[in-house]
Amino acid sequence: MVYIPQDIEQEGKDYLLERGYNLKIGSDLSQEILMKEVKDCDAILTRSIAVINEAVIQAGRNIKVIAKYGVGLDNINVKAATESGIYVTNTPQANANAVAEHVMAFILALSKQLIAADKELRGGNYGARHQLPSMDLEGKTLGVIGLGRIGTLLAQKAARGFGMNVIGYDPYLTTSPSDALEIVTDIEWLFRNADVVSLHLPLTEATKGTIGSREFSWMKKSAYFVNASRGGIVKEADLIEALKAGEIAGAGIDVFEAEPPQRDNPLFQLDNVIVSPHSAALTKEASVRMAVHAAMQVDQALRG
Ligand code: NAD
Repeated sequence: MVYIPQDIEQEGKDYLLERGYNLKIGSDLSQEILMKEVKDCDAILTRSIAVINEAVIQAGRNIKVIAKYGVGLDNINVKAATESGIYVTNTPQANANAVAEHVMAFILALSKQLIAADKELRGGNYGARHQLPSMDLEGKTLGVIGLGRIGTLLAQKAARGFGMNVIGYDPYLTTSPSDALEIVTDIEWLFRNADVVSLHLPLTEATKGTIGSREFSWMKKSAYFVNASRGGIVKEADLIEALKAGEIAGAGIDVFEAEPPQRDNPLFQLDNVIVSPHSAALTKEASVRMAVHAAMQVDQALRG
């Protein structure tokens, strides 16, 4: 029995059904229900909202694999799973392009003031064409923090597609993963020199809350900040302060400190912010790939 706390695309379910597995689609994501529903299952296939903590892992006595639909493993207690001899897998190749494209959409929409222009024109203000100065991306500097799959793909799209100069920071790399970008070792220099800064690192104890007032104060007043990695890496209150104070020009935010975010999250009140509901990875194509790749990993692990 494969436990799927949050439903997934039919293609992923079909992959498992065709191989004879029974599926249990979750009814609720509270810890109490997760612990109850996991009991008689052999595998968990989870998206990013269900919290697979130690208590859930221990309640699932027969669990042999926890397959993540997506990349970030921050909703799974990997240590507790590993100690119980459970495999933990993810689907790293499935959604990298979708996220990199979404970030490019944020960068384009911010630099062209597209959301504001749309709103003004619908409100009858054709004069907005002279009131909303937009910015060329060609020749501007993109600073990418975290040069894994998504950061590297973004660098390539920005450099090759839009003629941006791309600089990247990743303390775990010594050579550049692509000739589209130049590695810098001083993160302050990156913040000070970039016209757009985009985050692409995992949320871990080491990265939690590491981007805040100090980093925003280093940025140019004309620069944009984009986060489609994890909300917890950024001190959201500091970001809101920097945006309100005009320390940075705007932000594109797909992920939040608390998800789902409160309806009255102050970011939603700011005109210089574009938000999306943690949907960067969820193109149709990437969603099907994540569902099928996660299902394949469940099958592989259960077949031994
Ligand atoms: P990846 O593992 O390929 O790359 C992460 C990179 O970050 C690695 O190169 C690593 O060396 C680097 N890194 C680690 N700590 C760092 C630090 N302190 N400073 C700078 N770099 C650091 O991961 P990926 O596939 O590129 O994804 C990146 C993150 O994006 C994931 O961890 C995930 O949380 C997030 N993500 C979000 C969405 C979404 O829907 N918004 C979708 C997929 C992934």
